Amino acid sequence: MKSTPLDRWIPNLHKPLIIAGPCSAESEEQILTIAHAVNTNPAVKIFRAGIWKPRTRPNNFEGVGEAGLSWMQKVKSETSLLTSIEVANAKHVELALKYNIDILWIGARTTASPFAVQEVAEALEGTNIPVMVKNPVNAELPLWIGALERINKSGTNKLIAIHRGFTGVGNSIYRNLPMWEQPMELKRLFPELPIICDPSHIAGKSDLIENLSQKAIDLDLDGLMIETHQDPPNAISDAKQQVTPKHLDEILNNLTNKTEYSLSGNFENNIEILRAQIDRLDNELIGLLKNRMQVVEQIGKEKVKNNITALQIHRLAQIMEERTKKADALGISSEYITEIFKLIHSESLKLQTSLQKK
Ligand code: PEP
Ligand code: MN
Repeated sequence: MKSTPLDRWIPNLHKPLIIAGPCSAESEEQILTIAHAVNTNPAVKIFRAGIWKPRTRPNNFEGVGEAGLSWMQKVKSETSLLTSIEVANAKHVELALKYNIDILWIGARTTASPFAVQEVAEALEGTNIPVMVKNPVNAELPLWIGALERINKSGTNKLIAIHRGFTGVGNSIYRNLPMWEQPMELKRLFPELPIICDPSHIAGKSDLIENLSQKAIDLDLDGLMIETHQDPPNAISDAKQQVTPKHLDEILNNLTNKTEYSLSGNFENNIEILRAQIDRLDNELIGLLKNRMQVVEQIGKEKVKNNITALQIHRLAQIMEERTKKADALGISSEYITEIFKLIHSESLKLQTSLQKK
C-alpha cells in the first residue's frame, strides 16, 4: 500500500488531526449550529456528519440523504472547516463529489464487506480524494488492510485509517472493545499510514471519551474523530456518546500531546538510564532461562533412565498454580505469567521428548 502522510496531502493538517461533528446530519440549522460552534476551536480542522446511516435494523432513522449535502456545502462556505461524510456505495461517492465534499470515510460495516469496498473503490477511480477507512466491526486486521488496499488501488494515496473499536462478547464498559494492539500492528506494518482514533464509537458513552482520547495520543496515533452535537440527549442517533461543543473544548484542552522523540536532553538521559536497566534485566532473564534449561535436561535424563514419560501432567498443573500465586502476590497479572510459563514448559517438553527418542 502506498500512502502519503497527513501533512503531505492537505497542507496545515498537523498532528493531532481533530475531526468533530454530529453522528448524523439532522437539519440545516443543526449542522450549521454545530459547525460554527466547533469552528471556534482552532484545533478542529474537519467537520463530520453522517448523511446516510447504516442501521442495524430497518425502520430506524436512515439519514437525511442528498439534502444534507447542501448543508455541508454551507459549512464549507461559512467556516474554515473541511467537510467529511461516510460513503458506502457508488451513488454516495458520486453525490459526495458532486457536492464537493473534501474527505470521505468508509464505515465499519462497509469495511467488513469487500464487495461494497470494491464498488466504492471503483467509483473513486481518478479522483484521489482523501479517504478514511474505519476498521471492520470484527477484529480482523487483514480485512482492514484489504479495504485500504482496494481504495489505494483506485489511485487514492491520501489514506487514513480510523480505529473505532471492535465488537466483543460479554460485558465491557465500552460499546466496542478498543483492542489497541490492532492499530499498533497496522502502524508497524505501514509506518507511513496516518491512523486516527474514533473514541466516540469505542466508548458509547460521552464520559469515557476523554480517557480514550488521551490513550490514543499516548500511543502516538495521529488524531481524533469525536462525535459532537449541540443537544446530545435529543440526537436522533448515538445520543449517549455525543459530546457538546463545550465538552469537546474541555477534552481537547485537557489532552497532553506527546511526541515520539523528545527535544529535552534530561528526558533522553533518564530514558537512557532506564533502558540500560532493562537491557541488564533482559540479559539476566536469558541467563536464567539457560540455567533452567540445563536443569530440565538433567531431569529429562533421569526420566529416560527410569522409563518415565516426558510429560507429567500433575507437575504442570502444580507449576502453573504456584507460579500464578507468586505472580498474584507480586501484583503481576496471572494471565501474563500463565502465558510465559506455557511457553517455557512447552520448550522444556520439546527438549525432554528429544532425549526420550535417543
Ligand atoms: C459513524 O461514524 O457515525 C458510524 C456509523 O461509525 P461506525 O462505522 O464506526 O460504526
Ligand atoms: Mn455514530
